[in-house]
Order: sequence, then C-alpha cells, then structure tokens
Amino acid sequence: MVLICATAFFSGLGAAVFFADFPSAAFSRVLVFAVLLSLVVGALHIGHILIRTTILDTQRRGWKNRAMRDRLTGLLNRQGFRDAWNTKTMAMREDGRTGSMLLIIDADHFKRINDRFGHPIGDQALKAIARTTAGSLRGDDICGRLGGEEFIVAVHGLTQNQGYVIAERIRSAVSRLTVGANGHEARLTVSIGGAFSGGGAGFDALYKAADENCYRSKRGGRNRVTLSPLAAIQRSRYLREPEAEPHLPATV
Ligand code: GH3
Ligand code: MG
Ligand code: MG
Repeated sequence: MVLICATAFFSGLGAAVFFADFPSAAFSRVLVFAVLLSLVVGALHIGHILIRTTILDTQRRGWKNRAMRDRLTGLLNRQGFRDAWNTKTMAMREDGRTGSMLLIIDADHFKRINDRFGHPIGDQALKAIARTTAGSLRGDDICGRLGGEEFIVAVHGLTQNQGYVIAERIRSAVSRLTVGANGHEARLTVSIGGAFSGGGAGFDALYKAADENCYRSKRGGRNRVTLSPLAAIQRSRYLREPEAEPHLPATV
C-alpha cells in the first residue's frame, strides 16, 4: 500500500516537472491521469497477489491434508495421527481436562479374508472397518490407520470406564460387519488393546501399553478388548504381576 502511494506521489511529481509548461487545464488532467493510473495499476497488482496467495494457500492445505491421510480409508495416517494427538493433548492441558485413552485395533485373521475373497474385497473390508470405527466416535476424537489392517484411536477427556464403553462399542459394531455374499459371507472382527492415563502420560508410553494389550486380546482368543490403566501396566512390568486379563465381549 505504501509502495502504491509512493508510486502515485512520484508519478504526480514527475508529471508536474515534465509537463509544467502545459496550459493549466491540460496540466491538471495530466496530473490526475498520472496519479490515478499509478493507483489503478497498483490496486490491480495487489488484487492479483491476493488471488495468487489464496490459490497457493488452498493448494498447500490440500497437499498437507493428503500427506496426512491414508489413501485407502481416508483416515489420518501415522504422521497425521501424531500431529492431531499433539494438538489435542495441548488443547486438553489448556482446558484443564484429564484422562486420555489410546486404542490399537487390529483386524482378526485378515490374511484369511484376503486369501478367501481376494485383495479388492479385503480393501473394501478395511474401508468398512475404518468407517465403522470412525462412526463409533465423537467428532473430536482422533482415528487413524497405522498401516495394513491396524488402526489407532485416541479419546481425550474421559474416565477409564467411559473408555471401555467406547472400545467395546467399536468392537461390537465391527463384529456386525460381514464380507462376501450369497451364503459365502465371513464375519469381520477386531482385537483391541487400550491404555488409559488419568494424567498426562506421553504418547509413546500409551502406545507401547496399548500394543501389549492388543497382543493380550489376540492371545485371549481375538474379538475382544483389553484395556488397562497405564500405571497398572507399568507396575506389572516391573513387579512381574499377572498380566492384564482381556475383557470378554458379551457374545463371542
Ligand atoms: P491376526 O488375527 O493375528 O492379526 O492375523 P492377521 O491375518 O490379521 O495378521 P497378519 O499380520 O498375519 O496378516 C495381515 C494381513 O493384512 C496380511 C495382509 O495381506 C493384509 N493387509 C495388509 N494391508 C492390506 C491392505 O491394504 N489391503 C488388503 N486387502 N489387505 C491388507
Ligand atoms: Mg496386524
Ligand atoms: Mg490382524
């Protein structure tokens, strides 16, 4: 803006110097023309720059969004999930809320689904699991695909019991999904491992604990949730107490 005004000023000054010998009526027209032309050209430049900046910004946001999302399911990828986790954790600290839960969700015997129905149907099944998982959450919970047939969920500002209800809701919703048709259907199920922290536990500690619990759910027979508070998991690791028992679903 300063540049435009300076250009208009010097343009007017130049006109005054070069056309000083013009008759006064023509001189004022030249002066107005010189100043207005600089202002109009400057305004057009600014408009052009604003439009270009908006387009580039939209493109940049589109690229960033694509870089943070999993292509198959549209969920956040690992990097996107970590970024969202960091943003959410910071916001929660500022709000003074507590309670975080991390869930690792692994589709059961997924290799068999691929072997039996083929990879494209396997992809459809992964999309259905992703949709169902995300659909079992509130808008501000975070859901991502870790890769392969593994998904991850984070919910903040809750108690462990509420966390268990959410994990169980996901497990139960996925267990109602089927692939295949005409009497050749197979049921989809997931094993879920979760870790809960009432305080501000870091991502890595929660992830490790949730992963261990996911293996417990697998070892316990699959299609089940194992969720425990982080402190209990760490204590059992150091004191060699018995491992967390998987929670059995109502119907297995
Ligand atoms: P478990 O219950 O122990 O988890 O058994 P699993 O068969 O699910 O586990 P495993 O790790 O043996 O196999 C994972 C399978 O997931 C094998 C792989 O082909 C399949 N898979 C991974 N990513 C994709 C994908 O993007 N699309 C499809 N269709 N299949 C995938
Ligand atoms: Mg797996
Ligand atoms: Mg699996």
